[in-house]
Amino acid sequence: MHELSVAMSIVELATEYAEKEDAKQVKELEIEVGDFSGVVLDALDFAMEEAVRGSICEGASWKIIPVHPRARCRSCGHEFSPATLYEPCPACGAFGFDLLNGNELKLKSILVD
Ligand SMILES: [Zn+2]
Repeated sequence: MHELSVAMSIVELATEYAEKEDAKQVKELEIEVGDFSGVVLDALDFAMEEAVRGSICEGASWKIIPVHPRARCRSCGHEFSPATLYEPCPACGAFGFDLLNGNELKLKSILVD
């Protein structure tokens, strides 16, 4: 399962940080997940429960924050929020845009004790 390896690397990152800070416990995690990252939010939530077990993150709460994609049309520069990667620009109808965000998959913040 893809989400479990994602969750494990988030916990790993958090553990590294906590150790560096000499923390005893990780209290809170905020994880940003872009709509186009390929990660299923519910599955990640479930995977986190597995991943924190036995780690310094056990007992922590986490928030999974969905990030909606933003794109800029290559023809007219219009910025919009595409639902898929293959969508015409709503302003000029051209295909082809640069994705500004929506691929995020990162540990946004961490709170330790
Ligand atoms: Zn356009």
